[in-house]
Amino acid sequence: ALNRSLSEISNDVQVSFEFFPPNTPEMETTLWNSIERLAPLKPNFVSVTYGAGSGTRDRTHDIIKRIQQDTALLAAPHLTCIDANRDELVQIAKDYWASGVRHIVALRGDLPNSDEKPAMYASDLVALLRDVADFDISVAAYPEGHPEAPNPQFDLLNLKRKIDAGANRAISQFFFDIESYLRFRDRCVTVGIDVEIIPGILPVTNYKMLERFFGLTNVHVPSWMPKMYEGLEDDEMTRRMVGANIAMEQVKVLNREGVKNFHFYTLNRAELTYALCHTLGIRPQK
Ligand code: FAD
Repeated sequence: ALNRSLSEISNDVQVSFEFFPPNTPEMETTLWNSIERLAPLKPNFVSVTYGAGSGTRDRTHDIIKRIQQDTALLAAPHLTCIDANRDELVQIAKDYWASGVRHIVALRGDLPNSDEKPAMYASDLVALLRDVADFDISVAAYPEGHPEAPNPQFDLLNLKRKIDAGANRAISQFFFDIESYLRFRDRCVTVGIDVEIIPGILPVTNYKMLERFFGLTNVHVPSWMPKMYEGLEDDEMTRRMVGANIAMEQVKVLNREGVKNFHFYTLNRAELTYALCHTLGIRPQK
């Protein structure tokens, strides 16, 4: 059965990796070690998140610049509409283009104050970027719905607006309920979304740490999941193996359902993502 299961993986899988700007010198070292380790796997692109608050965009950009300088990777900054107005966003986009950035992950960003109506949505940012230059644009998709959306159909049509505004692909919020992604992919087709909805894979090694974060999303955590990590709070090694196993099952099932592109939320760590890529048949290249 194992033979059948592993040989079923198609040999044309492609990947992308996501990183975030680190907060400490130790995490900075971890990030660059991870990029060095993962770079030979030749991902389609690597992206670097952007947090709200002054100074963080510079940090995103600094990492992007260094990736461009030190590696052959295609680096895509995330850009949000929070704490920048239209004119500033146009300038940022122009600066990015001038510095060789060709791919942007365009997001609205999380609102600092959820009672305020945002000045812009991600679809507006996509249109703005399209006006500035011929960027390759990725946007976010939510298989289980975005928490602010009044209903799933509204959110689905919002994704369509982003694609119609000129986005080239969507990257999904992470999920653990595979059916929810597959149903969402089908629903995208029914409203005429014809770009790829790349599943965002979050290999979970520290369930307890992420548990609080899950509550802020609409992501359904199946009942088997906390059980898998039960009693492993002080056993990092086993947690990693369990996390790798869950993520591996996930990508195998998705691959069987025709998914060829995967986006890994690396959390700046290489090991699990490397192992998953290896199992998917991806080998380091010079
Ligand atoms: P939008 O597509 O604009 O949607 C936001 C909400 O508004 C949805 O509920 C939508 O249905 C609703 N909406 C859209 N248009 C309208 C309208 N006209 N009227 C009323 N409601 C409307 N956050 C960061 O801060 N930095 C990052 O780097 C980052 N990276 C991410 C990467 C991925 C792959 C994903 C999935 C998310 C990421 N996020 C990031 C989180 C994201 O910014 C938040 O989820 C944010 O709340 C929504 O962003 P969006 O681009 O999906 O917004």
